[in-house]
Amino acid sequence: MRLFDTLTRTEQELHPSDGTTYRFYCCGPTVYGPAHIGNFRTFVLQDVLRRTLETGGTRTLHVRNITDVDDKTIRDSQKAGLTLQAFTAGWTEKFHADCEKLGLCPPHIEPSAVEHIPQQIAMIERLVEKGHAYASDDGSVYFKIASFPGYGRLSRLDQRDLEIGRTQNARSSSDEYEKDSLSDFVLWKGRKPEDGANYWSSPWGEGRPGWHLECSAMIQEYLGDSFDLHSGGVDLVFPHHENEIAQSECACGGHFAATWFHITHLLVDGGKMSKSLGNLYTLEDLAARGFTAMEVRYVLIGAHYRKPLNFTLDSLTAAREALAKLAKGARQLAAQAGGETRLNQVEFGPFQGAWDSLNQDLNTPGALGGLFTGLREAAALTGAEAAAALAGFNRLLRALGLTLPVEVVQDASSIPESIKALAETRWQARLDKNWAESDRLRAQLAGLGWAVKDGKDGYVLVAISE
Ligand code: AMP
Ligand code: ZN
Repeated sequence: MRLFDTLTRTEQELHPSDGTTYRFYCCGPTVYGPAHIGNFRTFVLQDVLRRTLETGGTRTLHVRNITDVDDKTIRDSQKAGLTLQAFTAGWTEKFHADCEKLGLCPPHIEPSAVEHIPQQIAMIERLVEKGHAYASDDGSVYFKIASFPGYGRLSRLDQRDLEIGRTQNARSSSDEYEKDSLSDFVLWKGRKPEDGANYWSSPWGEGRPGWHLECSAMIQEYLGDSFDLHSGGVDLVFPHHENEIAQSECACGGHFAATWFHITHLLVDGGKMSKSLGNLYTLEDLAARGFTAMEVRYVLIGAHYRKPLNFTLDSLTAAREALAKLAKGARQLAAQAGGETRLNQVEFGPFQGAWDSLNQDLNTPGALGGLFTGLREAAALTGAEAAAALAGFNRLLRALGLTLPVEVVQDASSIPESIKALAETRWQARLDKNWAESDRLRAQLAGLGWAVKDGKDGYVLVAISE
């Protein structure tokens, strides 16, 4: 499989450097609230990468961390009146539940920052010993970016008119800082009153690790000095991944990641998602509007990962129709196969084009298009040939992580009376153009396990099967 590498700006052939297992790391969620669909664009594409490798016969080792201590988790745990541990545990659980709904394979290892404080302290000690880090008066420790000539290669700082020499006295102690502010970054933050009970002992006094450090320390622990691929959303290229490279290469001496895989941001209605604009969507928000997680997944893989994805609610309706069409196609193909089944399938048949798309820089929209073309091509097949095509189709669905809706068409008598009554009230609200009430009732029905599909002259109720 070939993939575009952010560092070299070239496509690379992916193969396990140890000859057996493709070992990769993804920066995981900061657990201070529900993940939004932008975050999930990144996690879903990483999942498709893993599934594609595995479908092609490559074993993987997938490590994804949980950021459970940083400026935001501490701030919001205090607002919620909870311990940091109780607060982040709740949001981690919610994240796992969302991942399951979206069909994401759980990572093989999911380490958390708080569980790896000694490893982080050990890494800082090494950096101080080697002259790459220094302690400041307030008990913090900073990485000296001028000590690492490779600093800025990933994000091409040299092409952005920033010189390390000019700004080397600048320091940044916050976890996130402005894109173009170049500064020594914090490895250890001296304890401050606002940290409350969230501090640990270290050779530099009480405090807590800086955000960038946790990934370097956990990568060293689980993947060693060098590994196959590192990934995150594009916002992580600078400074987070630049800082990880600096820390890891200076402390451990390895080459760090062989390939860098960055996913472009999801936009909503053409712009950034934000709470104040009311367009920041979580899975729960979309479920309340009657959309399933699989429909969300379909939209998220519907654009190439190197292009922005403009999310709209209409795209979810289109995804619903596309999934229904695929399900219909699969049923037809199964009927053409008659009783024939094909096991141990290694070929893709009419779906070879879709498979090639996935292997060519993870072209997920190409693969989705290839599913439809393949179904059209397979329409004339019968018996064993149809069975083989169906097996190829199913293999591709697994690589994309799609589960097709099993639409049990309900005859009216099997729908509970209370559900029918709610749906009728909703339809009336819709006729009255009372959209808020109609949305509220749709959400209530979704909560009870029923999706409403509106047509021009009426609606259909479908049991949600996830
Ligand atoms: P966070 O929980 O903020 O640490 O982010 C988790 C992951 O989501 C990181 O890889 C981010 O780069 C990624 N991410 C954040 N916002 C978006 C977005 N709008 N579209 C795609 N990925 C995003
Ligand atoms: Zn990271």
